[in-house]
Order: sequence, then structure tokens, then C-alpha cells
Amino acid sequence: MLRCNPLLGKRLHRFWQEVGFLRRFGVSADAARGIIPPVDDDIERILIPRERIARRVAELADEIGRTYSDSAAALTVVAILSGSVIFLADLMRQLPIRMKIGLITVSSYAGATTTSRGASILGELRVDVRGRHVLVVDDILDTGRTLRLVTAELRQREPVSVRTCVLLRKPAKVPPDVKADFVGFDVEDAFVVGYGLDYDDHYRNYPDIGILRPELYASA
Ligand code: 5GP
Ligand code: MG
Repeated sequence: MLRCNPLLGKRLHRFWQEVGFLRRFGVSADAARGIIPPVDDDIERILIPRERIARRVAELADEIGRTYSDSAAALTVVAILSGSVIFLADLMRQLPIRMKIGLITVSSYAGATTTSRGASILGELRVDVRGRHVLVVDDILDTGRTLRLVTAELRQREPVSVRTCVLLRKPAKVPPDVKADFVGFDVEDAFVVGYGLDYDDHYRNYPDIGILRPELYASA
């Protein structure tokens, strides 16, 4: 006769009890089983594939490296959280120059897929910039409010220079007074996710840059 290991039997029983409990509260079968749905299912169209991103990040690192390599002043890279983290990680490892890194958080007041109507720096700006070159790194330049705010704040702290680097830029929106010194790609005026960019804090781990299926943010 086939006999079941009693410990395994107990575990299976508990598992099904938990699934039943979660389902009663409207949790989907996949979520109840602890299966996170694949990110790819939510992407309607890939705009920039990972290979293109990697090539362009390498080119940017080269441009940036050449800009600072002959300078006597040291460099501080100031990255804006959280959207720039993956870009920053890839970029800084290809910059063969001495640097400090500062991370800042900027809050935007807007809906999840609308552009910012206002912005403010959260917390105290603890970044060493006096007498140093500053390179601000952000994920995307859209209305320009974030970069305008951050560069203005940093310029008050007597740096040698302030330059900006963005992975993406939406030329349709950028006002004439906001300029990025280093730009990865110009993109159409659509809401994009992936490679650090989020929708409601999701999709940052998606390795390409893409556009979500519209029904996912239709209610935002
Ligand atoms: P700004 O409008 O100030 O130039 O950009 C503000 C911030 O809005 C960006 O740093 C980024 O976090 C967010 N943002 C703007 N456009 C997009 C987009 O298409 N996708 C995502 N995920 N975030 C965006
Ligand atoms: Mg951002």
C-alpha cells in the first residue's frame, strides 16, 4: 500500500488551508500560491531593448569619462531615487574615475502615469559637492521640474560645475531652460516603464524599456 509521509501530508493540508483562506479574501489563485505574475505579460510594446540600452550606456560612460578625466577637481555623482538606480549601477561601473556617490529622493506631485506638477527634495541633502564637479543622474527628463529643482539646490553649495545625465528625454515636453548634458535616448511622449522606471513602484526590474498595456493604467 502507498503510504504518505505524515509530515508531508500535514504540510500539504496546511498549504491548501492557506490557499482557501486567501481566496475567500479575493486573492488570486496565483497570488495565493505565492506565484508572482510575470512582468512580461503586462508590457504591450518594447521601446528600447536591453542590448540597445547596454550599448548606449557604454557610450555615455565614455563621453562622461572623457569630460572629467583631465579635471583637477573631484567628481560627485548625485543620483535621483528610485528611477535612476539601475541606470546608475550600470553607468558608474563603467566610469573609471574617482568619484563619490550621493543619493537623493525627489517627490513629484502627480498621478501614477501623469507627469509631475510640482517637486520637492525629501529629507536633508547630505551630499559632498563644495569644490567638486557634480553630475546629476536621473531616469527621464520630462517636464524638467525635477532637474531644475535639483540643479538649483546643488548650485547653491558652491560646486565647480553641475552637469546632468538622463537615460531618457521626452523632447516634446522639455522646456527651453532645462538642458541635459548627456542623454541616452529621446523617446516619444508615452508613459514608459522598465530599467528602473516604475508604474506604481512596479516594473523597475523589467530589463527593457517598454510601454504597458493601456488597460493596466486606464484607471490612474
Ligand atoms: P520631470 O517631469 O520632473 O522632468 O520628471 C519627473 C519624474 O517623473 C521622472 O524622474 C520620472 O520619475 C517620472 N516620469 C516622467 N515620465 C515618466 C515615464 O514615462 N515613465 C515613468 N515611469 N516615470 C516618468
Ligand atoms: Mg524619477
